[in-house]
Amino acid sequence: MSNHAADTPNDPAPGSDELEGRLVCVAGLGVSGPPVARALLARGARVTVVDGRDDDTVRPVADALREAGAEVVLGGTPLPEGCDLVVTSPGWRPDSPLLVRAAEAGIEVIGDVELAWRLKPADQVWLAVTGTNGKTTTVRMLEAMLRADGRDALAVGNVGTPVIDAVLPGADGRVHDVLAVELSSFQLHWSSSVRPHAATVLNIASDHLDWHGGIDPYARAKGRVFAPGTIRVANTADAWSTRLAEEEGDPHTPLVGFRLDTPRAGEVGVVEDLLVDRAFVDEPHSGAEELATLADVRPAAPHNVANALAAAALARSVGVAPASVRAGLAAFEPEPHRIAFVATAGGVDYVDDSKATNPHAAAASLGAYPSVVWIAGGLLKGAEVDELVAAAADRLRGAVLIGADRARLREALAEHAPEVPVTEVEGPAADAPEGHTVMDAVVAAAASLAKEGDTVLLAPAAASMDMFTNYPERGRLFAEAVSRLL
Ligand code: ADP
Repeated sequence: MSNHAADTPNDPAPGSDELEGRLVCVAGLGVSGPPVARALLARGARVTVVDGRDDDTVRPVADALREAGAEVVLGGTPLPEGCDLVVTSPGWRPDSPLLVRAAEAGIEVIGDVELAWRLKPADQVWLAVTGTNGKTTTVRMLEAMLRADGRDALAVGNVGTPVIDAVLPGADGRVHDVLAVELSSFQLHWSSSVRPHAATVLNIASDHLDWHGGIDPYARAKGRVFAPGTIRVANTADAWSTRLAEEEGDPHTPLVGFRLDTPRAGEVGVVEDLLVDRAFVDEPHSGAEELATLADVRPAAPHNVANALAAAALARSVGVAPASVRAGLAAFEPEPHRIAFVATAGGVDYVDDSKATNPHAAAASLGAYPSVVWIAGGLLKGAEVDELVAAAADRLRGAVLIGADRARLREALAEHAPEVPVTEVEGPAADAPEGHTVMDAVVAAAASLAKEGDTVLLAPAAASMDMFTNYPERGRLFAEAVSRLL
């Protein structure tokens, strides 16, 4: 992105003039803060960035922003004198002191996505994806379908390009025509005028309830993705998804369901081994269009077929050809740590789904394998695991528990799957060779529980930060331990 973006020949974006000379406060120097500050500066705003931290992580970022023309306050979060707009990091809770002060003073508070919407060129189309699980996979699939159709498309959101960077002209003066936008419940909470062309809530399960204060506000925040005029794409197997589309969405727009069995008129779904469209066809009551085969979906787990159907519906809403849906799925590169096959040893498959950081995600991956030695545990963030364990009990051949909240899993296993052998691993073995990690002990324990034909599945149902830097590190150490075992 160039700082001369405003000088490019592109059409001026709606609202861009409003920023000229205004004092805008950017709250938080996290992932979205720096690109937001730069975008505001490029639009002629005066920018003050504040962050409560003052350490080696934020100082270099602060210096770079000062060089770009922003004022930066570290180690405190005062509301800058004279500011009349706050762009908050999506993770900041509404009860953060600065945001409370802004609200009391009648100053508008928006998030990075809302700002991006206000700055984008009028003709840039947004296709939006939210939900508890599957967002990244779905926007990536959607991007691949759009590109296979010859569109100038980009997936934006948590993984990859921040939304704000995709609405201003790049060095070549161009902006992308279509964005596949991954949106979190936090970002939607701080959005008010975002109007995607089409949108989906993939599913709703307990997550981040501490932030939102309950499942209802969490789900309703996600439901904001269905704005006036937005084509609604809903998961017929998920009660919240359908309900939000009906209750929060625009009743004058099509409501397109996606399902893993035979689609009705107005839906996309699966017939035998085909993904089929009965929504974006001339005669939905009599006609159907073949989009792809189940074999085109990788990994071929049922929840991933659901992701592919949601992506296909969004792609079809902007006229992507059926053949491009299939070509897109073929070109799609699965993201790491999402039911990623690691290796086979002694007839046992090892699979890394470290990204299963909540019970709903772990349930989906456990459901994809018939006979599993399950590696689970970490930080449960207050989520319940009884339902998950009860549903998976028949498939479990053993469990290896790790992490801070493993007692809750142990209790649930004792109650719902009492026959399943359980091993707990607290740390690396005392006599572990140099270079071995806790995952070597975990993998060894799992291997000793597994029989030929089983899958050893890392799907922790929990966040990783009690033992690992993040979920990618947890997955990487698992894969390294598996390769040492081999
Ligand atoms: P997100 O971006 O929403 O976190 P990802 O695509 O990164 O979603 O997948 C996160 C986790 O959820 C992975 O562990 C994956 O196996 C699981 N998952 C993916 N899609 C779904 C789905 N539709 N339903 C349930 N779980 C899913």
